[in-house]
Order: sequence, then structure tokens, then C-alpha cells
Amino acid sequence: MDSVLVTGGAGYIGSHACKALRRAGYLPVAFDDLSGGHAGAVQWGPLVRASLLDGDAVSAAIAEHAPVAVMHFAGVIAVGESMHDPGRHYVRNVAASAILLRAMQQAGVDAMVFSSSAAVYGEAVTETILESARLAPLSPYARSKVMVERMLEDFSVAHGMRAVSLRYFNAAGADADGDTGEGHEPETHLVPLAIRAALGRAPALAVFGDDYGTPDGTCLRDYIHVTDLAEAHVRALERLRVGALPPCLNLGAGRGASVREVIATVGLICGREVPFTVAPRRPGDAPRLVADISLARDTLGWTPRHSSLDEIVRTARAWEEKAG
Ligand code: UDP
Repeated sequence: MDSVLVTGGAGYIGSHACKALRRAGYLPVAFDDLSGGHAGAVQWGPLVRASLLDGDAVSAAIAEHAPVAVMHFAGVIAVGESMHDPGRHYVRNVAASAILLRAMQQAGVDAMVFSSSAAVYGEAVTETILESARLAPLSPYARSKVMVERMLEDFSVAHGMRAVSLRYFNAAGADADGDTGEGHEPETHLVPLAIRAALGRAPALAVFGDDYGTPDGTCLRDYIHVTDLAEAHVRALERLRVGALPPCLNLGAGRGASVREVIATVGLICGREVPFTVAPRRPGDAPRLVADISLARDTLGWTPRHSSLDEIVRTARAWEEKAG
């Protein structure tokens, strides 16, 4: 079985990708220091417990498992934290990626699928966002993603590295079999917080602003089911193995949902209204971020199949009940 090194394989999106890889006939080798991930989420292949900042450990894992490619999910994700602790984001996202790429290049591993983010775009100036949109990252977190995208282009030119940066919009939902799900500590994302509020496991949800210039005044986001994301990663990897892909691809559902719409769906699916209060806007929140996903559809032959709000919330709720 061909192995694939999955950094952050014990994390939310990484663990779903490991399951999808295994289904597609690969052995996913999770490389994770468990600073944010969970050992229990590693179920489809071995776990190498180490930090990407430890170049010797990275090289040893590559030598031992001889991966045909790397999926690189590991990194820190809290935008707010990056504003007051940028160094942590630049070390764990940028420096760690440089160490990983160097180790890959030295070992002759020449394909990478990288977790980027819609945060690279900053504020959208169009209804939906194309990959060609101007990049205007608003936080050190977002700038760290832009920097790694650039690094991949440099490795591609200098060493023939085949790489694609997948720019996620809002990942949500959980594995339909209940094998894995979202487990951030602390949790800051809308879908799990709304579900916990409805189930009485968390305080009333704070809606960050209802005076935006959107149809109902709350922010619009493009929620994509994590299982659809995982499938796109496997397709990207298979395409990269036989040729090149565009350097960046948007991954979203291609439609916007407001905070109020998410709250309404959670209320319906939980059978209880979500208690909420309207709070001030959260600094750095763009009013709308909705993907144009035609490039991903065309180049990967992929389409989101599980990303209705209904399916996202149903699977996320089941996971909250299991994990909570
Ligand atoms: N949001 C909210 N209350 C919360 C968490 C999020 O109103 O407790 C809003 C947030 O302002 C944004 C949307 O929900 O418009 C999605 O936020 P999330 O943090 O889930 O993802 P992001 O868009 O920041 O990546």
C-alpha cells in the first residue's frame, strides 16, 4: 500500500482525510505532536508523535514510511491569537512548513497538498471569490498561509515540487459514521457553539454583529462539510501524482449562509431554539466570504455532496452528543 504522510493527522480535517485516504487504498501516516489533535482520532494508520519543528524527526518519518506524497494540515488556526502572538503562528505555520519541505526535497518526495485558507483573501469585493482575486490577508494567521503558498511556488520552480494549496472556506460537520469530528480546545467555531448552546451545554451564543450590509445583517460564510473537504484532498493528491494542478483551489460549497440561517437550522435539527444574544462585531470578520468553486470542480472532477446546512448540522450534532 502506498503511504501518505499526513501532518496534523490527529486533528479535525486531517483525521477525516486519513479516513478518506484509507478508503482510497493508501496508508495514512499521521505526523502530529498532539498539541491540538487527539490520539484517538488516528484510526486508519500509524501515528508518529513528533513536532514538525524537529527536522530530524520529520526526516526519520519520511525515511521509515517512504510516503508518495504529503498532506500538510498541521498548524495553528486561531486568528485572534495570531494578532497578539504572531510569533507562534510564524513558527508553527511558516517555519514548520519550511522544515517539512526541505526534508521532503532531500528525500525526493515531490508532491504536497497544503491546507490553506479563504482568510488569504481578506474582505471579498465580489459576490463570490475566484482564486485570481487579490490577496489581502488581515491577520498574521492569514499571512502565514500566504507565505507557505509562496514557499510552495518556490519549491516548485527550484525542485519540481508538485503542490496545490487548497483554500478552505468554513469547514464544518463530522464523519457520518461518528468515527471522528471537531474537537478544538477552546472551541470558537459557529456550528459547534450553536449546537452546544441548543443542547444546554454552553452559554447562549453570542452573534457577532447583526448590522452588516447582508440580507439579514449577519455575516455570510460558505460552510463546507469536512467529508467533502477530505474527498477533495484525495482527488488533489491523485491528480498531482500524474501531473500538475493550478497552484491554488478554493474549497467551499459555493453558497453563502448567514449566522441567522445557521442558528435556525441548528434549532430545527436539535428540536430546541438556540439561545443567543447579539454582541458587537468580532474584529477582522469580513461581511461575506463565499467561494467560486468552478476551478476545483473542473480540475478535480469534484463536487460537494454533503454540504447542505442540514447535513452539516446533523452530523455535527451527532458528534457533539457522542463526544460531549
Ligand atoms: N460567529 C458568531 N458567534 C460565535 C462564533 C462565530 O457570530 O460564537 C460568526 C462569525 O462572526 C462568522 C461566522 O459565525 O461570521 C463563522 O465564524 P467561525 O468562527 O465559525 O469561522 P470563520 O468564518 O471565522 O473562519
